[in-house]
Amino acid sequence: MAIVIDRDQGIKSELEDRVGLECPYCGVYAHMQPQSVPDASSLLRDKPGHVGLVYKCDACNAPVFLRFAVREFHDNSVELHRNFVELERPKERFAFSYLPKDTEVLFREALSCYSGNNFNAFASMCRRASVSAFHALGEGGKLRAFEEFVTAQDIAGIDDESFAPIKSVLFGAGSHEDLPLLNRAQAGILLEVLKDMFYQCFVRRGKLTRALKVRRFFVTEADNDKLASA
Ligand SMILES: [Zn+2]
Repeated sequence: MAIVIDRDQGIKSELEDRVGLECPYCGVYAHMQPQSVPDASSLLRDKPGHVGLVYKCDACNAPVFLRFAVREFHDNSVELHRNFVELERPKERFAFSYLPKDTEVLFREALSCYSGNNFNAFASMCRRASVSAFHALGEGGKLRAFEEFVTAQDIAGIDDESFAPIKSVLFGAGSHEDLPLLNRAQAGILLEVLKDMFYQCFVRRGKLTRALKVRRFFVTEADNDKLASA
């Protein structure tokens, strides 16, 4: 299913020239169509190993840059492998402002490792972020976080075997060097479970406290108005 850039006809594909992926701008899993394709003549002259194409997201029209490896140069066309590298990956989002300062810095870096497909760097940063969170939670904080963690496993119905490496990353007693190697699927579980744990430990409390403060403010204001008009 190669993609072919022809000297006269431009891009053609044996299947179709659209690709589907998660847009780094709008976050929607959308179809992308080629928007800017290099000129076949210059490719045939320079014979590069990789070729960059700009696609357009069907959902938000943003330009998405993809890099393809060249499969073969023909007389009048260039054939590309169908696999591509995404130059910009979707960013993972989180309500960072509710986290303790150090945890925020470490968790931001963890998520940027994840977006860059560096899953073991991600796991190491998750360990650092969680240690800093336990510290910020104070006495009994690690135990409380662990309860949230176990609840998440239960709600999501994740079996003990798949959960063991995740548990070892976040709560293991071993040093940093002893962290297990994670693959993409395990890193995905770690990501969601840690987000949930941080949500329960910090974001939920922060949002609720903030909302109640606003309610109290309006009640006080209303009382003041009543007093003023009495
Ligand atoms: Zn988009």
